[in-house]
Amino acid sequence: MVDLVSQYQSMKTEVDRAIMNVVETAQFINGPEVQSFQKELEEYLGVKHVIPVANGTDALQIALMALDLKPGDEVITPSFTYIATTEVMALLGLKPVFVEVDSDTFCLKHGDIEAAITSKTKAIVPVHLYGQAAPMNEIMAIAEKHNLFVVEDNAQAIGCDYYHTDSKIAKTGTIGHIGCTSFFPSKNLGCYGDGGAMCTNDDALAAKIRMIANHGQSERYYHDVVGCNSRLDSIQAAVLRIKLRQLDVYNDRRRAVADKYDQFLSAFPEISTPVRAMNSKHVFHQYTVQLEGLNRDELQAHLASFEIPSMIYYPVPAHKQKMFSHFGSGSTNLPITDWLTERVISFPIHTEMEDAQQDFILEKIAQFVESKRK
Ligand SMILES: *Cc1c(COP(=O)(O)O)cnc(C)c1O
Repeated sequence: MVDLVSQYQSMKTEVDRAIMNVVETAQFINGPEVQSFQKELEEYLGVKHVIPVANGTDALQIALMALDLKPGDEVITPSFTYIATTEVMALLGLKPVFVEVDSDTFCLKHGDIEAAITSKTKAIVPVHLYGQAAPMNEIMAIAEKHNLFVVEDNAQAIGCDYYHTDSKIAKTGTIGHIGCTSFFPSKNLGCYGDGGAMCTNDDALAAKIRMIANHGQSERYYHDVVGCNSRLDSIQAAVLRIKLRQLDVYNDRRRAVADKYDQFLSAFPEISTPVRAMNSKHVFHQYTVQLEGLNRDELQAHLASFEIPSMIYYPVPAHKQKMFSHFGSGSTNLPITDWLTERVISFPIHTEMEDAQQDFILEKIAQFVESKRK
């Protein structure tokens, strides 16, 4: 699905030098690389505070911890997402309240949010799924009206531009009260291990987040709140600084691969190509299509027989996961979510995709579809 080896080869000298520099100076934790990366990411995103942490799941957890929610409080979120988005809610004793997604954009269906709000609702966690922005204008308006926090799960969409209705442009992750992202190797901005970050424009929230991520410490050995230990290490920061400079190029490259898929696949009514939302500049973390009457298992097996990977993100929606059975969410009526989990499939997309590789993938997809026509 990705080709991180070729990507590394393309910047080997620079990356090797940066990693060796960390090793030789032995500033593994909170060193100058972390400080610089933080500043550079703040500049790139146009946000006041970036707080790097150990991974994207920690970022989501710490963000929710910083909001002072009480056990039993409810958080509105999509079910059609990676498990980390909602797992941290349950871990903190919060109740995920699952809301439907839009069948075209795969992101929260804003029109369904208000019906899910109760007196216990405290926050909304939209997910910018596959690299496309959720409808933040509408979500922020609902949040303001009902006095709710918004924590963006931006793990799949770093670098995505969101166009506000007043034509102002903001990066996803900087629109809600807190934005969370992941630097897992295969993400659009990936490091060579685990990493993540939160961002916010709120000084008080930033201070709180920093404290929670560092054992709830206000000054050394004085611990004010129960926190955790979550930090980005210097080697990862050194790699991320180099890759951040390429992020826009990477995202352009992903869009070019997506354009080529779109163009070719538009000739096949059996495959619905991704819809690009008006307010969002898609960064294509995944290229995910919907199959119209084709057997997904057979298509995957056909591709696999030519060593072409494909993935199902996600085969089981969160509301049907066993881990949430105590919430009784399995019976929640989410027909679009259920329908999507049965018909989505993601094809390889990455920054090093060569024309010949993609031609081969497209040829094999076409071969399968045509073999099913009578
Ligand atoms: C990857 C991802 C996460 C979690 O990030 P990790 O760094 O793997 O912990 C959370 N939410 C979404 C939508 C993701 O894709």
